[in-house]
Amino acid sequence: MTVLEVKNLNLGFECECGFRQALYDVSFSLEPGKMHALVGESGCGKTISAMSILRLLPKTAYITSGEILYDSNDILKLPVKKLQKLRGAKIALIPQDPMTSLNPLYTIGDQLLEVIKIHQGLQGKEAFNKAVEALELVRIPCAKERMKAYPHEFSGGMKQRAIIAMALACNAEILIADEPTTALDVTIQAQIMNLLKDIQKNTGTAILLITHDLALVSENADYVSVMYAGHIVENAPADEFFQNPNHPYTLALLKSMPSVRRNEKLSTITGQPPSIQQFINGCKFHPRCENCMDICKNIVPPVYYVGENHFSSCFLNKDDRCNEG
Ligand code: SF4
Repeated sequence: MTVLEVKNLNLGFECECGFRQALYDVSFSLEPGKMHALVGESGCGKTISAMSILRLLPKTAYITSGEILYDSNDILKLPVKKLQKLRGAKIALIPQDPMTSLNPLYTIGDQLLEVIKIHQGLQGKEAFNKAVEALELVRIPCAKERMKAYPHEFSGGMKQRAIIAMALACNAEILIADEPTTALDVTIQAQIMNLLKDIQKNTGTAILLITHDLALVSENADYVSVMYAGHIVENAPADEFFQNPNHPYTLALLKSMPSVRRNEKLSTITGQPPSIQQFINGCKFHPRCENCMDICKNIVPPVYYVGENHFSSCFLNKDDRCNEG
């Protein structure tokens, strides 16, 4: 059962040098009570894919084709008024940086109440109780008193909890968590991820986790999609993904994961992901791929079925054992 489905999403930007494509046939789905991780280096298209769901895109961005299905409606075709009812109330965003996402001039309570009044239509005591309940749900101690606190009186971890409380206050069915722990230290990072997992389990919320951190993914996600240069190059259920990683880009990402136990030099992936201005023929990863073959330089690899619900776009799978998708 899916709660949201992104189907063959193509998006590009109008730049000074003309139209440049940034997303190519991006497809993935979210299930209630499950966490789907979208993984890749910065600039691979993770955030723009997620922002397309809320249609929070820069003015220069154009979706050229595809569908985003929620509750039998294509979000891309919804009138703005209907879309505004979805944002925050049904699909909520936990932004990258809690430090800059709260307004320093208003108390945490004022900011929470505003969300509740707009999206739930509650007023007075009812709205106040709902706000306190949301802060308690994210384990802010003395929630009632903390309603009067300003953001600068909260630590980084508490600010992120307050942001999550805002997302939860409206009982959103889908949470988009865009690098939710990047600005936090590892201990707080673990607390926030545990909190998200508990919320997902207890409320059946579907979570889209945007991250470059595969360690975080291995501990928390149920499903993984790897993005490179605007393409989803591999996707699989998390257990299958970590047991049988397939795509050379995935393998390179896994090799560059730091480990305190591994007594060896940390590998890096040579080069950078291409910018949207760079046009690369064939497989977009070929200039950085150690396994690159002639075919890779000219033809975009199709999707190969490499295991149960496991797909990978790499010509290395082009043999009798794998089926082209
Ligand atoms: Fe490397 Fe070729 Fe596979 Fe691309 S298709 S990842 S270049 S082996």
